[in-house]
Amino acid sequence: MHHNFIAGEWLAGADAAANINPSDTRDIVGQYARASQAQARTAVAAAAAAQPRWAALTPMQRSEALDHIGSELLARQGELADLLAREEGKALPDAAGEVLRAAHIFKFFAGEALRVGGELLGSTRANMTVEISREPVGVVTIITPWNFPLAIPAWKIAPALAYGNAVVFKPAELVPGCAWALAEIISRAGLPTGTFNLVMGRGRELGGVLLEDPGVQAITFTGSESTGRKVAQSAVGRPGAMAKFQLEMGGKNPLVVLDDADIEQAVACAINGAFYSTGQRCTASSRLIVTDAIHDRFVAGMVDAMKNLVVGDARAPGTVIGPVVDQSQLEQDLRYIGLGTQEGAKLASGGNAMEQWNGQPGFYLQPALFTETTPAMTINREEIFGPVASVIRVKDADEALKVANDTPFGLSAGVVTQSLKNAARFKRELQAGMVMVNAPTAGVDPHVPFGGRKGSSHGPREQGRYAAEFFTTVKTAYVNP
Ligand code: ADP
Repeated sequence: MHHNFIAGEWLAGADAAANINPSDTRDIVGQYARASQAQARTAVAAAAAAQPRWAALTPMQRSEALDHIGSELLARQGELADLLAREEGKALPDAAGEVLRAAHIFKFFAGEALRVGGELLGSTRANMTVEISREPVGVVTIITPWNFPLAIPAWKIAPALAYGNAVVFKPAELVPGCAWALAEIISRAGLPTGTFNLVMGRGRELGGVLLEDPGVQAITFTGSESTGRKVAQSAVGRPGAMAKFQLEMGGKNPLVVLDDADIEQAVACAINGAFYSTGQRCTASSRLIVTDAIHDRFVAGMVDAMKNLVVGDARAPGTVIGPVVDQSQLEQDLRYIGLGTQEGAKLASGGNAMEQWNGQPGFYLQPALFTETTPAMTINREEIFGPVASVIRVKDADEALKVANDTPFGLSAGVVTQSLKNAARFKRELQAGMVMVNAPTAGVDPHVPFGGRKGSSHGPREQGRYAAEFFTTVKTAYVNP
Protein backbone atom coordinates (compact mmCIF):
# COMPACT_ATOMS: atom_id res chain seq x y z
CA MET A 1 0.00 0.00 0.00
CA HIS A 2 1.26 3.45 -0.94
CA HIS A 3 0.22 6.11 1.53
CA ASN A 4 -0.33 9.84 1.34
CA PHE A 5 2.38 12.13 2.66
CA ILE A 6 0.79 14.68 4.96
CA ALA A 7 2.45 16.85 7.58
CA GLY A 8 5.61 14.79 7.30
CA GLU A 9 3.90 11.44 7.84
CA TRP A 10 2.87 8.60 5.55
CA LEU A 11 -0.84 8.12 6.22
CA ALA A 12 -3.38 5.54 5.10
CA GLY A 13 -6.35 7.11 3.35
CA ALA A 14 -10.11 6.86 3.53
CA ASP A 15 -9.83 4.00 1.04
CA ALA A 16 -7.52 2.92 -1.77
CA ALA A 17 -7.46 2.34 -5.50
CA ALA A 18 -5.60 -0.09 -7.72
CA ASN A 19 -3.19 1.38 -10.26
CA ILE A 20 -3.69 -0.66 -13.46
CA ASN A 21 -1.23 -1.17 -16.31
CA PRO A 22 -2.97 -0.16 -19.57
CA SER A 23 -0.62 -2.45 -21.54
CA ASP A 24 -1.86 -5.46 -19.54
CA THR A 25 -4.92 -4.90 -17.41
CA ARG A 26 -4.17 -8.03 -15.37
CA ASP A 27 -1.08 -6.29 -14.01
CA ILE A 28 -1.69 -4.19 -10.89
CA VAL A 29 1.10 -1.66 -10.43
CA GLY A 30 0.13 -1.14 -6.78
CA GLN A 31 -2.52 0.00 -4.34
CA TYR A 32 -2.63 3.72 -3.65
CA ALA A 33 -4.42 5.39 -0.76
CA ARG A 34 -7.13 7.94 -1.41
CA ALA A 35 -7.11 10.79 1.07
CA SER A 36 -10.20 11.96 2.93
CA GLN A 37 -11.32 15.57 2.87
CA ALA A 38 -10.20 15.89 6.48
CA GLN A 39 -6.72 14.73 5.46
CA ALA A 40 -6.65 17.26 2.65
CA ARG A 41 -7.47 19.93 5.23
CA THR A 42 -4.67 18.68 7.46
CA ALA A 43 -2.29 18.87 4.50
CA VAL A 44 -3.23 22.50 3.83
CA ALA A 45 -2.79 23.38 7.50
CA ALA A 46 0.59 21.65 7.63
CA ALA A 47 1.71 23.48 4.51
CA ALA A 48 0.58 26.81 5.95
CA ALA A 49 2.51 26.16 9.16
CA ALA A 50 5.65 25.05 7.32
CA GLN A 51 5.79 27.70 4.62
CA PRO A 52 7.40 30.49 6.69
CA ARG A 53 10.09 28.06 7.89
CA TRP A 54 10.85 26.96 4.33
CA ALA A 55 10.92 30.55 3.11
CA ALA A 56 13.27 31.48 5.97
CA LEU A 57 15.95 29.04 4.84
CA THR A 58 18.72 30.48 2.72
CA PRO A 59 18.39 30.36 -1.07
CA MET A 60 21.37 27.98 -1.06
CA GLN A 61 19.52 25.55 1.21
CA ARG A 62 16.47 25.57 -1.05
CA SER A 63 18.71 25.17 -4.07
CA GLU A 64 20.51 22.19 -2.57
CA ALA A 65 17.23 20.44 -1.76
CA LEU A 66 16.00 20.85 -5.34
CA ASP A 67 19.35 19.79 -6.74
CA HIS A 68 19.25 16.67 -4.59
CA ILE A 69 15.78 15.79 -5.96
CA GLY A 70 17.00 16.30 -9.54
CA SER A 71 20.06 14.13 -8.94
CA GLU A 72 18.01 11.27 -7.55
CA LEU A 73 15.63 11.43 -10.51
CA LEU A 74 18.65 11.21 -12.81
CA ALA A 75 20.22 8.34 -10.89
CA ARG A 76 16.95 6.38 -11.00
CA GLN A 77 16.03 7.24 -14.58
CA GLY A 78 15.67 3.63 -15.78
CA GLU A 79 13.57 2.45 -12.86
CA LEU A 80 11.27 5.48 -12.93
CA ALA A 81 10.86 5.30 -16.72
CA ASP A 82 9.77 1.70 -16.30
CA LEU A 83 7.20 2.71 -13.67
CA LEU A 84 5.96 5.57 -15.84
CA ALA A 85 5.59 3.33 -18.91
CA ARG A 86 3.88 0.68 -16.82
CA GLU A 87 1.26 2.90 -15.21
CA GLU A 88 0.58 5.35 -18.04
CA GLY A 89 1.42 3.40 -21.20
CA LYS A 90 3.99 5.80 -22.65
CA ALA A 91 6.54 3.91 -24.77
CA LEU A 92 9.70 3.32 -22.75
CA PRO A 93 12.07 5.62 -24.72
CA ASP A 94 9.58 8.49 -24.33
CA ALA A 95 9.12 7.64 -20.66
CA ALA A 96 12.89 7.78 -20.16
CA GLY A 97 12.89 11.19 -21.84
CA GLU A 98 10.21 12.37 -19.47
CA VAL A 99 12.18 11.33 -16.39
CA LEU A 100 15.21 13.17 -17.74
CA ARG A 101 13.12 16.24 -18.31
CA ALA A 102 11.73 16.12 -14.76
CA ALA A 103 15.30 15.90 -13.45
CA HIS A 104 16.40 18.84 -15.61
CA ILE A 105 13.49 20.91 -14.32
CA PHE A 106 14.53 20.36 -10.69
CA LYS A 107 18.14 21.21 -11.61
CA PHE A 108 17.03 24.34 -13.45
CA PHE A 109 14.98 25.58 -10.50
CA ALA A 110 17.81 24.69 -8.12
CA GLY A 111 19.63 27.43 -10.02
CA GLU A 112 16.69 29.78 -10.09
CA ALA A 113 16.30 29.54 -6.29
CA LEU A 114 19.62 31.41 -6.10
CA ARG A 115 18.62 34.07 -8.59
CA VAL A 116 15.51 35.57 -7.01
CA GLY A 117 16.31 39.23 -7.46
CA GLY A 118 14.65 42.59 -7.25
CA GLU A 119 14.97 46.19 -8.35
CA LEU A 120 16.04 49.33 -6.62
CA LEU A 121 14.71 52.62 -8.00
CA GLY A 122 14.61 56.24 -7.08
CA SER A 123 11.30 57.80 -6.08
CA THR A 124 9.37 60.86 -7.19
CA ARG A 125 9.94 62.01 -3.60
CA ALA A 126 13.36 63.32 -2.60
CA ASN A 127 15.53 60.94 -0.54
CA MET A 128 13.03 58.14 -0.91
CA THR A 129 14.04 54.85 -2.53
CA VAL A 130 11.74 52.19 -3.92
CA GLU A 131 12.59 48.53 -3.56
CA ILE A 132 10.80 45.93 -5.63
CA SER A 133 11.15 42.40 -4.38
CA ARG A 134 9.55 39.01 -4.88
CA GLU A 135 8.05 37.01 -2.05
CA PRO A 136 6.50 33.53 -2.00
CA VAL A 137 2.76 33.39 -2.61
CA GLY A 138 2.26 30.99 0.32
CA VAL A 139 0.54 27.61 0.01
CA VAL A 140 0.11 26.33 -3.52
CA THR A 141 -2.33 23.58 -4.53
CA ILE A 142 -0.97 21.61 -7.47
CA ILE A 143 -3.42 19.55 -9.54
CA THR A 144 -2.03 17.52 -12.42
CA PRO A 145 -3.35 15.31 -15.25
CA TRP A 146 -2.33 11.76 -16.15
CA ASN A 147 -0.53 12.30 -19.47
CA PHE A 148 2.84 13.42 -18.06
CA PRO A 149 2.90 11.69 -14.67
CA LEU A 150 6.34 13.03 -13.74
CA ALA A 151 7.13 16.05 -15.94
CA ILE A 152 4.01 18.11 -15.16
CA PRO A 153 4.27 17.58 -11.39
CA ALA A 154 7.97 18.51 -11.68
CA TRP A 155 7.31 21.72 -13.57
CA LYS A 156 4.85 22.86 -10.93
CA ILE A 157 6.48 21.52 -7.75
CA ALA A 158 10.04 22.64 -8.55
CA PRO A 159 9.25 26.35 -9.06
CA ALA A 160 6.74 26.36 -6.19
CA LEU A 161 9.48 25.18 -3.84
CA ALA A 162 12.28 27.20 -5.43
CA TYR A 163 10.47 30.45 -4.67
CA GLY A 164 9.73 29.49 -1.06
CA ASN A 165 6.16 28.23 -1.25
CA ALA A 166 4.70 25.18 0.46
CA VAL A 167 2.87 22.59 -1.62
CA VAL A 168 -0.20 20.38 -1.51
CA PHE A 169 0.07 18.12 -4.54
CA LYS A 170 -2.87 16.13 -5.92
CA PRO A 171 -1.89 13.95 -8.86
CA ALA A 172 -4.32 12.40 -11.35
CA GLU A 173 -6.12 9.29 -10.13
CA LEU A 174 -4.78 7.19 -13.02
CA VAL A 175 -1.09 7.76 -12.33
CA PRO A 176 -0.38 7.86 -8.60
CA GLY A 177 2.76 5.72 -9.00
CA CYS A 178 5.13 8.37 -10.36
CA ALA A 179 3.59 10.96 -8.04
CA TRP A 180 4.21 8.75 -5.03
CA ALA A 181 7.79 7.99 -6.16
CA LEU A 182 8.49 11.70 -6.59
CA ALA A 183 6.93 12.48 -3.20
CA GLU A 184 9.10 9.82 -1.59
CA ILE A 185 12.21 11.44 -3.08
CA ILE A 186 11.07 14.88 -1.94
CA SER A 187 10.33 13.52 1.56
CA ARG A 188 14.07 12.82 1.95
CA ALA A 189 15.31 16.16 0.57
CA GLY A 190 15.49 17.93 3.92
CA LEU A 191 12.47 20.22 3.63
CA PRO A 192 10.89 21.45 6.88
CA THR A 193 8.08 19.09 7.92
CA GLY A 194 4.84 19.93 6.13
CA THR A 195 6.45 21.92 3.29
CA PHE A 196 5.46 19.31 0.74
CA ASN A 197 2.31 17.16 0.96
CA LEU A 198 1.00 14.43 -1.32
CA VAL A 199 -2.76 13.99 -1.31
CA MET A 200 -3.96 11.27 -3.68
CA GLY A 201 -7.57 10.67 -4.65
CA ARG A 202 -10.46 11.87 -6.75
CA GLY A 203 -10.47 15.47 -7.86
CA ARG A 204 -14.18 15.94 -7.41
CA GLU A 205 -13.96 14.74 -3.79
CA LEU A 206 -10.88 16.65 -2.75
CA GLY A 207 -11.41 19.67 -4.98
CA GLY A 208 -13.63 21.48 -2.47
CA VAL A 209 -10.87 21.55 0.14
CA LEU A 210 -7.89 21.92 -2.18
CA LEU A 211 -9.39 24.86 -4.05
CA GLU A 212 -11.43 26.59 -1.37
CA ASP A 213 -9.61 26.15 1.93
CA PRO A 214 -8.62 29.68 2.99
CA GLY A 215 -5.12 28.37 3.74
CA VAL A 216 -4.48 27.97 -0.02
CA GLN A 217 -3.23 31.13 -1.73
CA ALA A 218 -2.59 29.82 -5.24
CA ILE A 219 -3.75 26.97 -7.48
CA THR A 220 -1.88 25.66 -10.49
CA PHE A 221 -3.87 23.26 -12.63
CA THR A 222 -3.33 21.26 -15.80
CA GLY A 223 -6.21 19.16 -17.14
CA SER A 224 -9.41 19.40 -19.07
CA GLU A 225 -11.14 22.63 -19.97
CA SER A 226 -14.27 21.74 -18.01
CA THR A 227 -12.34 21.08 -14.80
CA GLY A 228 -10.24 24.19 -15.46
CA ARG A 229 -13.40 26.26 -15.41
CA LYS A 230 -14.42 24.71 -12.09
CA VAL A 231 -11.02 25.55 -10.67
CA ALA A 232 -11.40 29.15 -11.81
CA GLN A 233 -14.89 29.41 -10.36
CA SER A 234 -13.75 28.04 -7.01
CA ALA A 235 -10.72 30.31 -6.92
CA VAL A 236 -12.84 33.38 -7.51
CA GLY A 237 -16.12 32.38 -5.88
CA ARG A 238 -14.81 31.01 -2.59
CA PRO A 239 -15.47 32.95 0.59
CA GLY A 240 -12.74 35.33 1.72
CA ALA A 241 -9.71 36.15 -0.39
CA MET A 242 -9.65 34.81 -3.93
CA ALA A 243 -6.86 32.43 -4.85
CA LYS A 244 -4.34 33.19 -7.55
CA PHE A 245 -4.76 30.60 -10.30
CA GLN A 246 -3.06 29.32 -13.40
CA LEU A 247 -4.73 26.93 -15.85
CA GLU A 248 -3.31 24.83 -18.66
CA MET A 249 -6.06 23.10 -20.59
CA GLY A 250 -6.56 21.69 -24.04
CA GLY A 251 -5.15 22.19 -27.48
CA LYS A 252 -6.12 21.53 -31.08
CA ASN A 253 -2.73 22.30 -32.49
CA PRO A 254 -2.24 22.96 -36.20
CA LEU A 255 0.83 21.82 -38.08
CA VAL A 256 0.90 23.64 -41.42
CA VAL A 257 2.73 22.00 -44.31
CA LEU A 258 3.41 24.41 -47.17
CA ASP A 259 4.20 23.62 -50.81
CA ASP A 260 7.87 24.40 -50.28
CA ALA A 261 8.29 22.00 -47.34
CA ASP A 262 10.90 19.26 -47.29
CA ILE A 263 8.48 16.35 -47.59
CA GLU A 264 10.49 13.97 -45.41
CA GLN A 265 10.77 16.59 -42.71
CA ALA A 266 7.04 17.33 -42.93
CA VAL A 267 6.10 13.68 -42.54
CA ALA A 268 8.57 13.19 -39.68
CA CYS A 269 7.18 16.23 -37.82
CA ALA A 270 3.59 15.12 -38.32
CA ILE A 271 4.18 11.51 -37.31
CA ASN A 272 5.97 12.54 -34.13
CA GLY A 273 3.65 15.41 -33.28
CA ALA A 274 0.42 13.56 -33.95
CA PHE A 275 1.08 10.05 -32.71
CA TYR A 276 4.01 9.84 -30.30
CA SER A 277 3.00 9.38 -26.66
CA THR A 278 -0.13 7.85 -28.23
CA GLY A 279 -1.30 11.35 -29.19
CA GLN A 280 -2.00 12.02 -25.51
CA ARG A 281 -0.25 15.39 -25.36
CA CYS A 282 -1.99 18.73 -25.11
CA THR A 283 0.54 19.92 -27.71
CA ALA A 284 -0.21 17.07 -30.16
CA SER A 285 -0.36 18.02 -33.87
CA SER A 286 -3.96 16.98 -34.34
CA ARG A 287 -4.74 19.20 -37.37
CA LEU A 288 -2.40 18.76 -40.33
CA ILE A 289 -3.11 21.67 -42.64
CA VAL A 290 -1.56 20.96 -46.02
CA THR A 291 -1.45 23.09 -49.16
CA ASP A 292 -2.75 21.67 -52.40
CA ALA A 293 0.47 21.13 -54.35
CA ILE A 294 2.10 18.96 -51.69
CA HIS A 295 -1.07 17.36 -50.27
CA ASP A 296 -1.07 14.02 -52.11
CA ARG A 297 2.66 13.42 -51.59
CA PHE A 298 2.26 14.27 -47.90
CA VAL A 299 -0.67 11.88 -47.42
CA ALA A 300 1.16 9.08 -49.25
CA GLY A 301 4.23 9.71 -47.06
CA MET A 302 2.13 9.63 -43.89
CA VAL A 303 0.33 6.41 -44.79
CA ASP A 304 3.68 4.83 -45.58
CA ALA A 305 5.35 6.06 -42.39
CA MET A 306 2.42 4.92 -40.25
CA LYS A 307 3.30 1.32 -41.15
CA ASN A 308 6.31 1.74 -38.87
CA LEU A 309 4.27 2.87 -35.87
CA VAL A 310 4.50 -0.39 -33.96
CA VAL A 311 1.72 -0.53 -31.38
CA GLY A 312 2.43 -2.65 -28.34
CA ASP A 313 3.16 -2.98 -24.64
CA ALA A 314 4.76 0.30 -23.60
CA ARG A 315 7.71 -1.56 -22.13
CA ALA A 316 8.28 -4.04 -24.98
CA PRO A 317 11.36 -3.48 -27.14
CA GLY A 318 10.39 -1.98 -30.48
CA THR A 319 7.12 -0.42 -29.33
CA VAL A 320 6.66 3.06 -30.75
CA ILE A 321 3.06 3.63 -29.69
CA GLY A 322 1.92 2.39 -26.30
CA PRO A 323 -1.70 1.78 -25.36
CA VAL A 324 -4.30 4.43 -24.63
CA VAL A 325 -4.37 5.22 -20.92
CA ASP A 326 -7.68 3.58 -19.97
CA GLN A 327 -11.01 2.23 -21.14
CA SER A 328 -12.88 5.53 -21.03
CA GLN A 329 -10.18 7.37 -23.01
CA LEU A 330 -10.20 4.53 -25.57
CA GLU A 331 -13.98 4.84 -25.86
CA GLN A 332 -13.62 8.60 -26.37
CA ASP A 333 -11.04 8.06 -29.13
CA LEU A 334 -13.26 5.50 -30.86
CA ARG A 335 -16.29 7.75 -30.57
CA TYR A 336 -14.39 10.54 -32.38
CA ILE A 337 -13.12 8.11 -35.01
CA GLY A 338 -16.75 7.07 -35.62
CA LEU A 339 -17.85 10.70 -35.76
CA GLY A 340 -15.14 11.52 -38.30
CA THR A 341 -16.36 8.82 -40.64
CA GLN A 342 -20.01 9.81 -40.11
CA GLU A 343 -19.25 13.43 -40.94
CA GLY A 344 -17.65 12.41 -44.22
CA ALA A 345 -13.93 12.21 -43.51
CA LYS A 346 -11.94 9.39 -45.06
CA LEU A 347 -10.01 7.09 -42.76
CA ALA A 348 -6.75 6.77 -44.69
CA SER A 349 -4.98 4.61 -42.12
CA GLY A 350 -5.51 2.86 -38.79
CA GLY A 351 -8.30 3.54 -36.32
CA ASN A 352 -8.88 -0.01 -35.12
CA ALA A 353 -8.83 -0.95 -31.47
CA MET A 354 -7.00 -4.16 -30.65
CA GLU A 355 -8.19 -5.92 -27.52
CA GLN A 356 -4.92 -7.73 -27.05
CA TRP A 357 -1.26 -7.51 -27.78
CA ASN A 358 0.72 -10.72 -27.58
CA GLY A 359 -2.06 -12.25 -25.48
CA GLN A 360 -2.13 -9.29 -23.07
CA PRO A 361 -5.46 -7.51 -22.61
CA GLY A 362 -4.95 -3.75 -22.97
CA PHE A 363 -6.27 -0.53 -24.50
CA TYR A 364 -4.50 -0.74 -27.84
CA LEU A 365 -5.45 1.51 -30.72
CA GLN A 366 -3.92 1.72 -34.17
CA PRO A 367 -3.06 5.40 -34.86
CA ALA A 368 -5.69 6.92 -37.13
CA LEU A 369 -5.26 9.39 -39.99
CA PHE A 370 -8.25 11.11 -41.53
CA THR A 371 -8.08 12.82 -44.92
CA GLU A 372 -10.66 14.84 -46.87
CA THR A 373 -11.64 16.65 -43.68
CA THR A 374 -13.03 20.17 -43.33
CA PRO A 375 -12.33 22.69 -40.56
CA ALA A 376 -15.96 22.53 -39.38
CA MET A 377 -15.93 18.79 -38.61
CA THR A 378 -16.13 17.81 -34.95
CA ILE A 379 -12.79 15.99 -35.20
CA ASN A 380 -11.21 19.32 -36.18
CA ARG A 381 -12.91 21.36 -33.46
CA GLU A 382 -12.68 19.28 -30.29
CA GLU A 383 -9.64 17.90 -28.55
CA ILE A 384 -9.61 14.10 -28.95
CA PHE A 385 -6.51 13.40 -26.84
CA GLY A 386 -5.61 10.21 -28.68
CA PRO A 387 -3.60 8.97 -31.67
CA VAL A 388 -5.99 10.54 -34.15
CA ALA A 389 -5.05 13.28 -36.65
CA SER A 390 -6.78 14.88 -39.61
CA VAL A 391 -5.45 16.31 -42.83
CA ILE A 392 -7.14 19.52 -43.97
CA ARG A 393 -6.40 20.41 -47.58
CA VAL A 394 -6.04 24.15 -48.27
CA LYS A 395 -5.33 26.21 -51.39
CA ASP A 396 -2.36 28.25 -50.24
CA ALA A 397 -0.50 29.82 -47.33
CA ASP A 398 -3.20 32.44 -46.75
CA GLU A 399 -5.90 29.87 -46.32
CA ALA A 400 -3.58 27.70 -44.22
CA LEU A 401 -3.07 30.54 -41.77
CA LYS A 402 -6.77 31.26 -41.57
CA VAL A 403 -7.64 27.62 -40.90
CA ALA A 404 -4.78 27.23 -38.41
CA ASN A 405 -6.11 30.09 -36.30
CA ASP A 406 -9.75 29.05 -36.64
CA THR A 407 -9.95 27.24 -33.30
CA PRO A 408 -10.96 28.08 -29.74
CA PHE A 409 -7.53 26.85 -28.60
CA GLY A 410 -4.07 28.43 -28.89
CA LEU A 411 -1.44 26.29 -27.20
CA SER A 412 1.06 25.30 -29.88
CA ALA A 413 1.26 25.65 -33.67
CA GLY A 414 3.80 24.70 -36.30
CA VAL A 415 4.81 25.31 -39.88
CA VAL A 416 6.97 23.22 -42.16
CA THR A 417 8.56 25.30 -44.90
CA GLN A 418 11.93 25.98 -46.47
CA SER A 419 11.12 29.61 -47.06
CA LEU A 420 12.43 32.16 -44.59
CA LYS A 421 9.65 34.48 -45.61
CA ASN A 422 6.93 31.95 -44.89
CA ALA A 423 8.58 30.94 -41.63
CA ALA A 424 8.72 34.55 -40.47
CA ARG A 425 5.11 35.17 -41.43
CA PHE A 426 3.71 32.09 -39.68
CA LYS A 427 5.89 32.66 -36.62
CA ARG A 428 4.36 36.12 -36.36
CA GLU A 429 0.75 35.36 -37.22
CA LEU A 430 0.01 31.98 -35.68
CA GLN A 431 -2.16 32.61 -32.61
CA ALA A 432 -0.48 30.29 -30.14
CA GLY A 433 1.70 30.46 -27.08
CA MET A 434 4.34 28.30 -28.74
CA VAL A 435 5.27 28.26 -32.43
CA MET A 436 7.45 25.63 -34.05
CA VAL A 437 9.26 26.04 -37.37
CA ASN A 438 10.16 22.72 -39.00
CA ALA A 439 9.49 20.89 -35.74
CA PRO A 440 6.53 18.98 -34.29
CA THR A 441 4.06 21.06 -32.24
CA ALA A 442 4.83 18.79 -29.27
CA GLY A 443 8.21 18.40 -27.58
CA VAL A 444 9.30 21.41 -25.58
CA ASP A 445 12.37 22.39 -23.60
CA PRO A 446 12.39 22.51 -19.80
CA HIS A 447 14.01 25.92 -19.37
CA VAL A 448 11.74 28.18 -21.42
CA PRO A 449 8.13 29.33 -21.02
CA PHE A 450 5.31 26.90 -21.70
CA GLY A 451 1.69 27.88 -22.19
CA GLY A 452 -0.94 29.08 -24.60
CA ARG A 453 -3.53 31.63 -25.56
CA LYS A 454 -7.29 31.70 -26.07
CA GLY A 455 -9.08 28.69 -24.57
CA SER A 456 -5.89 26.76 -23.88
CA SER A 457 -4.50 28.62 -20.91
CA HIS A 458 -5.17 31.21 -18.28
CA GLY A 459 -2.68 33.09 -16.17
CA PRO A 460 1.08 33.45 -16.34
CA ARG A 461 3.31 31.02 -18.23
CA GLU A 462 4.84 27.96 -16.65
CA GLN A 463 8.51 26.93 -16.70
CA GLY A 464 11.69 28.82 -17.25
CA ARG A 465 12.29 32.13 -15.50
CA TYR A 466 8.72 33.14 -16.35
CA ALA A 467 7.47 30.72 -13.68
CA ALA A 468 8.33 33.41 -11.14
CA GLU A 469 5.28 35.40 -12.28
CA PHE A 470 2.93 32.82 -10.82
CA PHE A 471 4.91 31.46 -7.91
CA THR A 472 5.90 34.80 -6.40
CA THR A 473 4.10 37.96 -5.44
CA VAL A 474 5.72 41.33 -5.91
CA LYS A 475 6.26 43.77 -3.05
CA THR A 476 7.00 47.45 -3.64
CA ALA A 477 8.64 49.02 -0.59
CA TYR A 478 9.07 52.82 -0.21
CA VAL A 479 11.91 53.63 2.12
CA ASN A 480 12.51 57.06 3.60
CA PRO A 481 15.76 56.78 5.53
P1 ADP B 1 -8.11 14.56 -17.52
O1 ADP B 1 -8.96 14.41 -18.72
O2 ADP B 1 -6.68 14.88 -17.77
O3 ADP B 1 -8.33 13.50 -16.48
P2 ADP B 1 -9.37 16.31 -15.61
O4 ADP B 1 -9.57 17.76 -15.73
O5 ADP B 1 -10.55 15.44 -15.40
O6 ADP B 1 -8.61 15.93 -16.92
O7 ADP B 1 -8.33 15.97 -14.48
C1 ADP B 1 -7.17 16.73 -14.25
C2 ADP B 1 -6.93 16.79 -12.76
O8 ADP B 1 -7.99 17.53 -12.17
C3 ADP B 1 -6.91 15.44 -12.06
O9 ADP B 1 -5.92 15.43 -11.06
C4 ADP B 1 -8.29 15.37 -11.45
O10 ADP B 1 -8.34 14.57 -10.30
C5 ADP B 1 -8.51 16.81 -11.08
N1 ADP B 1 -9.93 17.16 -10.88
C6 ADP B 1 -11.01 16.65 -11.50
N2 ADP B 1 -12.14 17.23 -11.05
C7 ADP B 1 -11.77 18.15 -10.14
C8 ADP B 1 -12.46 19.09 -9.31
N3 ADP B 1 -13.78 19.22 -9.34
N4 ADP B 1 -11.72 19.86 -8.49
C9 ADP B 1 -10.39 19.77 -8.45
N5 ADP B 1 -9.69 18.91 -9.19
C10 ADP B 1 -10.35 18.11 -10.03
